[in-house]
Amino acid sequence: MSSAQHVLGNLPAARLSLGTVKRLALCAILFAMPMRSSVAPHPPRRSRPASVADQPQVRNALAWLEKNVERITDIQVDLTEIPAPSFQESKRAEEVKRLLSGAGLSLQTDKLGNVIGEFPGATDKEVVILAAHLDTVFPAGTEINVRREGGRLIAPGISDNGTGLAGLIGVARAIHAAHIRPQRTILFAANVGEEGEGNLRGMRALIDAYQPKLRAVIVLDGSGIDHVTTKALASRRLEVIITGPGGHSWSDFGIPNPINALVRGSVRFINTKVPTTPRTTFNLGQIEGGTSVNSIPYEAKLKVDLRSEDEDEIARMENALRECIAAGVKDEMDNARDRSRGRLDWKVNLIGSRPGGELSADSPLLVALRSADDFLGNKSRIERSSTDANIPLSLGIDAIAIGAGGNGGGAHSLQEWYEPAGREVGLKRVLLTLLETSGLASEKNP
Ligand SMILES: [Zn+2]
Repeated sequence: MSSAQHVLGNLPAARLSLGTVKRLALCAILFAMPMRSSVAPHPPRRSRPASVADQPQVRNALAWLEKNVERITDIQVDLTEIPAPSFQESKRAEEVKRLLSGAGLSLQTDKLGNVIGEFPGATDKEVVILAAHLDTVFPAGTEINVRREGGRLIAPGISDNGTGLAGLIGVARAIHAAHIRPQRTILFAANVGEEGEGNLRGMRALIDAYQPKLRAVIVLDGSGIDHVTTKALASRRLEVIITGPGGHSWSDFGIPNPINALVRGSVRFINTKVPTTPRTTFNLGQIEGGTSVNSIPYEAKLKVDLRSEDEDEIARMENALRECIAAGVKDEMDNARDRSRGRLDWKVNLIGSRPGGELSADSPLLVALRSADDFLGNKSRIERSSTDANIPLSLGIDAIAIGAGGNGGGAHSLQEWYEPAGREVGLKRVLLTLLETSGLASEKNP
């Protein structure tokens, strides 16, 4: 029986006019045509599929998070007040290790300073990592006293990554308190070197160590529940160094000046056009050189950050930077009155490179996150960003980066803030995504 006959067969034939029959037949033909899922205007409403959230011990873990939410915020404040610039994370790492020691993990610190807490699953042949970076962008000596203003906590690094670290500890403790045994082994990692020139070194080392067994990586970075980063934004960081003879501002006037050359080259580079699609950006982030106002400097340095949705654009910008600096140096040499004392030299060093990558839309990890969102009645959008997830994504390993709840803003500024209100939803989202990905050990098969 065709679909058309089937549809008509269910209706009382006597009451159908010819027009109705034609319309019904057309509907039936359209209905029978193969249809791409993207054109279905109203996907059928389905009830939520069974998930780990239905298990009693997982419910206990969710309840534990709800009950301990203030304690988790206190942990966040304490950790934020321990300075942790990239390459100087050890003091904060020690405290994280102490805080994780109550969660039944076997703990170690690797040679880079990553703290790794292993929570054995029914199998150790497959591993899932939950990670939060320890480091901040704030240099040593930055004053960090968490201030409370109304419902807000204010301090450098309070959200990025105080929220992630507190979430890591909270979720580990909740799983321990609820006596959950995962199927895959979970590694709770507080890793070094995410920010700036840390260049994701901590995550690179974790991936190196566990790659053959690694099934997924969940990165906790900052606050919020409104996004999931599945696309890794590629970036490259470069340092320009120009050197020259140096001298006295009055008596040696006319010899080539590295700062002049750097300024000439930088102005050319700033005027380089970059596309809006694919979104491509550059930032002259740090500039230094010279020793005093009345000395012709012997050195000038510039750090530049290049990012793009398309890695070819980054390569194009790097070439442009090199050409502009070369031209700036040439301008300065051509304009120097006295070249007898020496010439300018220049070089561009690569100080950081973050590869791009993308999680496939049907990845089980994304399905797990969506299922957690559904359970919690949360909606989140896909984002492209530069995080620790870049490393696994660039290697084809499933990875996402998400916030660990609450609200935050002003990241990387001295006015950075965090609002813990509602953070339990974010913590539950992390816990459910993690356990959906690790699976639960079956009761019959302990
Ligand atoms: Zn961060």
